[in-house]
Amino acid sequence: MPQDQPRNQTRAVPVGPITIGGGAPIAVQSMAATKTQDVDATVEQVRLIEAAGADLVRIAVDSKRDVDALAEVRARTAATLSVDLQENYRLASLVAPHVDKIRYNPGHLYHHEREKPVQEKVAFIAKTAAAHDCALRVGVNCGSVDPEVTARHPGDDVGAMVASALEHCALLDGLGFERYVVSLKDSDWRKVVAGNRRFAAERPDVPLHLGVTEAGMPPDGVIKTRVAFEQLIPQGIGDTVRVSLTLPFERKDDEIDAAREIVGDIEAGRFRSVPEGLDDGLNIISCPSCSRVENEAFIELAQDVKAMSAYAADYDVTIAIMGCRVNGPGETDDADLGLWCGPAAVNLKRGSVTLGAYRYDEVLNRLRVALDAVIAEQATA
Ligand code: SF4
Repeated sequence: MPQDQPRNQTRAVPVGPITIGGGAPIAVQSMAATKTQDVDATVEQVRLIEAAGADLVRIAVDSKRDVDALAEVRARTAATLSVDLQENYRLASLVAPHVDKIRYNPGHLYHHEREKPVQEKVAFIAKTAAAHDCALRVGVNCGSVDPEVTARHPGDDVGAMVASALEHCALLDGLGFERYVVSLKDSDWRKVVAGNRRFAAERPDVPLHLGVTEAGMPPDGVIKTRVAFEQLIPQGIGDTVRVSLTLPFERKDDEIDAAREIVGDIEAGRFRSVPEGLDDGLNIISCPSCSRVENEAFIELAQDVKAMSAYAADYDVTIAIMGCRVNGPGETDDADLGLWCGPAAVNLKRGSVTLGAYRYDEVLNRLRVALDAVIAEQATA
């Protein structure tokens, strides 16, 4: 980072042997994309990411069987581990003994035990983390903000994302739990920049985990992420980063290489200008995949979509491709065309409207028809 731009004076959050915030070097992290219950594959994935120089490796856990697998993975690696919880927040008590950090998504807390106030759920997570020497991440995604918070911020999805993060900070602070970091992510780098700036202006003391979610495939995904980081890190914002890329499992370590290169360039004052019209034309966003991917054909599908849609490069169309039902339905709503993958079928959407569910070997043709229709409408307009 340029020497004249000090980083925000964030709290130091210990996560196992590393520290996030408090002036510590920016930590680089990634996430295992293998099925968590495939212990051998997950251990190998963790080792691959760790060998590339990751400070922290995250694993998704959605069930008790995932927890059992996590315990085995824990026993076979010394890597600093974080767990990603989505809807099933009560799993925190089972995963906490095995990891150094737990990420929860405020936008998914309402799915289970709807009658229970969110404050009680956060209290449960915080108490569990404190009892097991774990840090927390409040991981807010613009595409899955708690509907109640969204309703209070009509037409301002970034404002809703920031409000949700601030609310959860206040809840944790009120509980006397300060060992947490926050992330505010979206697939649109502009929203990532805006959200993190707004949050940091309110809470410069809270360490931030930066990332552009569903950034897509390299090189586009790396470019979008670099642009966001170049706007934030030189302003003192950002204590840990992830570059989320759609990659084959055996190349997941490329995320670490990309992150180290971007952070290293920024710290050395080497910036790449933002090309005019970066966001013009076809925009493909795709999730980086994780153990929740319902069919590994997702990664090949993402690559096929990119190749098939190349003919539409000059049209302002966004296509979103997501690997599972956890984030797929919500995070495709803002795209012109969305695909979210199930075990045997891919759900094709136009905006928030579902067009149908198609087999993996037929969805590309259906997408082509829908893409032609979007282009034809643009031409008419
Ligand atoms: S969309 Fe699903 S598979 Fe893709 S990264 Fe998110 S949770 Fe994992």
